[in-house]
Amino acid sequence: MKNIVPDFDWYSSQSAKAKLPKRCPIASAELCPRYYASIWLLGNASITTKISDEDKARLDKKWASLKPTIAEEEPGIAHADGKFSSVSNFCPEVSKNIFGLFASGLYRYADEIDSGLAAERLAKESADSNDPQWHWAGVTPCHYTECREYSIFSELSSGKKSKMKSARTALNPKLRWQVFARDSFTCCYCGKRPPDVILEADHKISVAQGGKDELENLITACLECNRGKGSSNAPS
Ligand SMILES: [Zn+2]
Repeated sequence: MKNIVPDFDWYSSQSAKAKLPKRCPIASAELCPRYYASIWLLGNASITTKISDEDKARLDKKWASLKPTIAEEEPGIAHADGKFSSVSNFCPEVSKNIFGLFASGLYRYADEIDSGLAAERLAKESADSNDPQWHWAGVTPCHYTECREYSIFSELSSGKKSKMKSARTALNPKLRWQVFARDSFTCCYCGKRPPDVILEADHKISVAQGGKDELENLITACLECNRGKGSSNAPS
């Protein structure tokens, strides 16, 4: 089987299949905590320029409340013998910008002997010049729809989607995250989880009926289950 090369062609074809924008619509430190954590790590490791102290203070504050719940999938960067060796759980948009591949994980060869052996093998196999194995021992391709963060935060920044909703403003991200975390990031109606579905916070008692934006009145629902609900209970 041919390895996936997570280049722009692969990424945009995945997006096209899902009828979504080519690039992640929330690829920004302001809109996504994974993007922010990824660029922060690169800056801290002196691979890119550091985020200014001012921005760091503001963004840390913005995303701090979500940190405990995303910890299990927190982006990481590793070094071996003082040299950069890998990134993991990374934002694929950041990986593309810095390393040229849409990947959540990128792993360097352990040493020159390893990379030399790999090059020999690739030459024997007449591997493509764009085969990532020339540079990387391991690559985990990742499309933005696979990110839990995309499921959770994309709707907040999408003007179109919020127009489908009532005129109310969107729930604040912290509350949404609390609802999803309590319900284990699972739709309470059908049991599906991202990346199979996009999650929303649904009001048990609708706002029209006096329901409040409170944790107790909110439940995790996928887009389909939420929108498919009877007209007596308007989507939250
Ligand atoms: Zn559902």
